[in-house]
This record gives sequence, C-alpha cells and structure tokens, in this order.
Amino acid sequence: MVEQQEEVRVVEFYSGIGGMHFALKECGINATVVAALDINTVANQVYQHNFPSTKIFQRNIESITLKEFQALNADVFLMSPPCQPFTRSGKQGDNEDPRTKSFLYILNLLGRLEKQPSHILVENVKGFETSETRNHLLQTLSTCNYVYKEFLLSPYHLGIPNQRLRYFLVAKQHPHQFVSDCLLENGHSLYKYIIENSASSNDELEERRNVSAAAEFSEEAAEKHIAEVPKVASLSQQKFANYLPNRTIKMYLEELPDIVTEEHKIDEKVLIRFGKVMDIVTEESERTMCFTKAYFHYIEGTGSVLQMNKTLQKSEVFQSLESIDDDLNKGEIWKKLNIRYFTSKEIANLHHLPADFSFPKEITRKQQYRLLGNSLNSHVVSVLLRFMFS
Ligand code: SAH
Repeated sequence: MVEQQEEVRVVEFYSGIGGMHFALKECGINATVVAALDINTVANQVYQHNFPSTKIFQRNIESITLKEFQALNADVFLMSPPCQPFTRSGKQGDNEDPRTKSFLYILNLLGRLEKQPSHILVENVKGFETSETRNHLLQTLSTCNYVYKEFLLSPYHLGIPNQRLRYFLVAKQHPHQFVSDCLLENGHSLYKYIIENSASSNDELEERRNVSAAAEFSEEAAEKHIAEVPKVASLSQQKFANYLPNRTIKMYLEELPDIVTEEHKIDEKVLIRFGKVMDIVTEESERTMCFTKAYFHYIEGTGSVLQMNKTLQKSEVFQSLESIDDDLNKGEIWKKLNIRYFTSKEIANLHHLPADFSFPKEITRKQQYRLLGNSLNSHVVSVLLRFMFS
C-alpha cells in the first residue's frame, strides 16, 4: 500500500543514466522528476535520450545555490553520491576526499531549506556504512527530524542472478513513520538485510570497519554481519510456494549468434594469461559477479564472462591446459569454450533497466560499460521506494 496519492516532486542528484528514475517508474508512485543533476556530459546524454522531457542540470552540485534548491520545491531527494571515497580498494578518503564535498554540501543545505523533502533515499557502496560521512548523514537527518532505516542489499537477495551488494538509506520526516516490515519476493523480510544500530564511538566505528573488511569480497560472508530478523510469522510460506529462489541468467541474455563476433570476443592472448582468474559463467548459471565500470577494459574482478559452449565443462578444459606449455595449443583449447563478454544491453537487463532502455548511437562501448558500472539495480531501488512510501 502506497500512502501518497498526490504527485510528488523528485530531485535526482548524481543522476548518471537515470537508474533511480527507472526505479521510480517501476514502483508505480505518482511522481515526477523535476530535476536531474549530474556533471558528466556523457551520462547526461544517455539520460536525456531515455527521459527526453526531464530537465537536466549539467552542473557541479556545489554550484547550486540555496535559492535554486528552494525553487525546486522537492518532496523527495534521491541520491547516489560518488562511491570511490568509500570503496575498500580505493584510498578511503571518506569525508576528506574532494569527491565527498558535494554530498556534504547537500547535507548542509538540507538543514537550511524552508521546505525540506519528506522522503530521502541514498545509495552507496558497501563500506559507506562504516564511514564518517555516513555518521554525518545520520546526524543531519536526526537534527532535521527524520527517521531512517539502512540496508545492505544485493539484487542477488531478490532472486536476480547478479551480485551488487550496496548500502541504502531510506528516510522520512516526522510525522511519517516506517511500517513494521516488508516482505520481499523471496519470502524474506526486508529487515533481514537491515544494518542494526549506528556506530557511536570511534572504537565502535573501527570495529565495524574491521568486520566490514573481513567480509569485503564475499556477499555470503557480509550477510552474516547483517542482523537476522525472524520472518514475519503471519505471512505464510504458501504465498511464495511458486517462487523460484534464483533465476538463471538465460532470461537476461541477448539472442546472439553462437559464433562470437569480433565485438564481444575475448582476445586469445587475454584468455591464456587471465582465463583462470576470470569468473566464467554459462546461461544456466544462477549468479554473475558485480559488473564494475572497468569491465571490458580490465579483466580481473570486473565482472563475469559468458561461456557459449554448452556441452564442454570448463573444469575439463582447465585440466587439459595443465599438460600444455605452448601458447598456440593453449589458445586452441580456450577457443573451444567459446567465451565472450556480456553485452552492455545484458548488463542493463541484469540491472533491471526496462527493455526499451537504450544508448544513443554516439556512445562508445567502453563508455556504455563505464556508465552501467556506476549505475544501480533499479528493481532493488524500486522495492526500497515502495517500502519508503508505504
Ligand atoms: N545513480 C546513477 C549513477 C551515480 S554515479 C545512475 O543510475 O547512473 C555518481 C554520479 O555522480 C556520476 O554520474 C558523476 O558524474 C556524478 N557526480 C559526481 N560528483 C558530482 C558533482 N559534484 N556534481 C554533479 N554530479 C556529480
């Protein structure tokens, strides 16, 4: 049940290619995006291509004045600030990183707005939950009379065969309150993925950082650190009896010829050198790894690749490679697996962007992968939006 009926005015900060806007459309709330704000011209081109009537502010957010903010008269803020200051692999500059400045600027303005938004959603990487910036966000929200809930949630938790564990915060201003729970498509409570209690002291913050570091590369491990909330007893299993916990990736794939075209081919030299560290999946796989913005550019840890040969087991191939030294023969063996990159359309599908999402012709493949790597899973956000408005 969605409580609001009147059209709400949404400002989409750090709008990129519009992942949040797609989520808003999917969740069915009566809303209009009155402004999309992003400094990146390429992202804005893609955004405008898919949302021709939305007004884009091609600006550094820090250049937007309080007066301009007031004029937007927003009911909802949707924000996915730059995540590099919070990734474990980065330098973790946190609130000292220049890329965090615009977010701190928004937090500062929030407190000064005559009319503050009644609802706020923030998305970031796992790691944000242990940052000073997050503490600052929570303090600002409390001062401005918001209640909030935080989650670590991946599309994989919702039965989508893609891992993309992300931090989410949803907030509502008094007198709005959160409903006691929300049941997900997999029959689990959304609260299973909640982040319990805020870190209040520095020691506690440090401890949370260590826990987070240990869990960094494994979503399964990360889940263990998320509070377990019992399922809602009154909602019977029966309702979800037909639910398939994990869909295979087949339904997300484009119909491409079996012979891998030059466009999506992985160079033999690359396969020989990096093949064993690649995350190779088949259409029957129930999981792909997180696709980052370096996909297609770097190999290791940037996203899965697809084995087109359905009859050969990769373990067999790995075994035969053991006994071969020369690259020519190794190359021939790799060829048999018929491995290719996922297309950008397939990654968009895994992000649950709608079927009619597209890139303008002039956007290169490398740019497409970069933008998708920065974007988000719209279905996950739509579930959170529905929860926020219920
Ligand atoms: N949610 C978006 C992606 C967010 S990635 C999507 O679905 O595509 C973060 C975005 O913030 C990037 O597109 C980047 O260009 C933008 N950005 C970073 N700093 C900014 C600033 N100071 N002002 C405006 N945009 C900024």
